[in-house]
Amino acid sequence: MSYPKIIVDYEILKNNVKTLVNLCNSKGIKVAGVTKVFCGNPEIAKAYVDGGVSYLADSRIENLERLKDLNVPKIMLRLPMLSEAERIVELADVSLNSEIETIRALSEKALEKNLTHKIILMVDLGDLREGYFHEEDLFQAVEEVIKLEGVKLIGLGTNLTCYGGVIPSIDLMDRLNRLKIEIEERFNIELELISGGNSSSIHLLSDHDLKGINNLRLGESLVLGTESAYGKQLEGTRNDAFRIQAQIIEVKEKPSVPTGEIGRDAFGKVPTFVDRGVRKRILCAIGKQDIDLDTLYPVDKGIIILGGSSDHLILDGTDSEKDYKVGDIIEFTLHYVSILRAMTSEYIKKEIVY
Ligand SMILES: *Cc1c(COP(=O)(O)O)cnc(C)c1O
Repeated sequence: MSYPKIIVDYEILKNNVKTLVNLCNSKGIKVAGVTKVFCGNPEIAKAYVDGGVSYLADSRIENLERLKDLNVPKIMLRLPMLSEAERIVELADVSLNSEIETIRALSEKALEKNLTHKIILMVDLGDLREGYFHEEDLFQAVEEVIKLEGVKLIGLGTNLTCYGGVIPSIDLMDRLNRLKIEIEERFNIELELISGGNSSSIHLLSDHDLKGINNLRLGESLVLGTESAYGKQLEGTRNDAFRIQAQIIEVKEKPSVPTGEIGRDAFGKVPTFVDRGVRKRILCAIGKQDIDLDTLYPVDKGIIILGGSSDHLILDGTDSEKDYKVGDIIEFTLHYVSILRAMTSEYIKKEIVY
């Protein structure tokens, strides 16, 4: 056995995916399963495919490369860099775009390779990350894209609750849908796909029909079973498909407030402390390089996370019923940022349990 280790429970993940796919399909929505939180690991992505997603989607071309043997269409989520245009048309069937210069490069590379690359134009509905903000710019882009060879405009998309924290609403979805209809009429084309956002759009499904929207790009809600606008756990899902295990390297009784003059900690912040008296302190061999302390939750509710540094996690085990010793393993559930960091850390072993 070696540690620290992230354990992925295949069945829990697959069931989360099935639950979300069924919910979305019942509203006429197809799911693009977003794999970036686990770095496009193909063995984990297989749970998405088994769970019924219609696409796999990732923001990094390296991850799409890892996924290439899984037989579902792939979507590139981050706006392509000009320098990666060739790999985009090779490894992604569809990409999200907002710059005509980039689409021209994709068109050129696709023509060279005798491919047709599909384009979704992104509309910025106010979250202020990617996409056309002004409608006239969008219409002008459509006019240019439909003239290009090697690429085919298949729809519109939007992304919300990423930078600006804007929560998707029926009004915003309706605006996207009306833009789609206007484009279809003005240019006499059909747009087959309208992608209404990420896991923050799930909350709209409970009491509405998202009439025009027929695609969502879901990461967090598949992995954790949470909709991300309000953080609610969705019925029939679980949040513990990913768990992390760390090994204890020191257990000692120590005061809870440091002695001496307090300067900055290893991350440049001046720390503060709660004085709980002398406590049983536990050091684990895992740190901020591998996880995010704010999105890490001990399974043993008697444990308090005190803090950490790059390579250490410091816990208070005084209130636990368990008498922890050096060499014992402590298990945690994780939220999005910790999963992302743990999956990216080469120091963390990855294990899938079936
Ligand atoms: C990451 C990402 C998603 C998935 O977001 P979740 O909140 O994890 O569902 C969807 N679309 C784009 C463009 C993304 O970058």
